[in-house]
Amino acid sequence: MKITCYYGDHSDMGYISLKPVSENQFDEYEWSKNEISQHMQPDQITIPYVIDEVVSPFLDRMTIAAHTFEEDYEEGYDTQFGNDIDEHGYITGIELTLYHDRFIDLVKNQVFKVFKIEWRNREYHLVTFDYANEVFKKENVIYKLTDGEDAFVIVQLVEPEQLGYQYTDENDQKRPVALFKGLISARDDIYPLEYLLKPQFFIRKDEGYFWVEQGVRCDAVEKELWDFISLEKRANILETIICEKCLAALDSLDCTIEMKSTNSLISRIYCNQCEHRFVKVVEWD
Ligand SMILES: [Zn+2]
Repeated sequence: MKITCYYGDHSDMGYISLKPVSENQFDEYEWSKNEISQHMQPDQITIPYVIDEVVSPFLDRMTIAAHTFEEDYEEGYDTQFGNDIDEHGYITGIELTLYHDRFIDLVKNQVFKVFKIEWRNREYHLVTFDYANEVFKKENVIYKLTDGEDAFVIVQLVEPEQLGYQYTDENDQKRPVALFKGLISARDDIYPLEYLLKPQFFIRKDEGYFWVEQGVRCDAVEKELWDFISLEKRANILETIICEKCLAALDSLDCTIEMKSTNSLISRIYCNQCEHRFVKVVEWD
């Protein structure tokens, strides 16, 4: 299970990928910046598989919502951010506020676990995103993801004020905010056990970035190296950055540059015109 946490001066953002994502969304370069080993020992980074614990009585004490999770969105609850949900209603990813010290604590204490359970005469895998006493609270609500009733989420509904939300408009409808505590799945094809048990925890300080040019950004620490290059040369370098497939110019590209040395850089490019993603090395004298 891949869980990422970016922390910085402005916000601490997390993302839980509940199903495998293709590699280009999170490339090797980004992974190389993972700071998790600075915070804990490698043997602390695990997702335990628990097979002999009886937890279904705790699930039976919770309320099971009548509607699917998707149907009740903005009716019975709000979420912290938008969630990624596929065309059938299965959640693929959860965006959340995740304070980095809390994330480190959760990983260190092996809070992310997969339970093999029997519930309502069926076998499921239950994935937990918090400590057991939070996941198995009887006040929590279980939502089916689809009418197939083969995957569910456990959420805790909290008053928005508790999360520090403030309403400027008195007439704004105040709905509780759903915090994800667990996923219950009998769909190994959508949420493969092998993936759920693979601990891919990523944490990185987000130092912010600078715009070098419209569409081209550069890590704050590397901006100094960029600034060292003469203005004329910089213009020449940027001119060479075009889409290798459709030849779209810089203004159609999203580009991140990483300085390799004082006379070479790696650019990671996404073309908004043809959706091509590629890496280009630029060198100069
Ligand atoms: Zn292109």
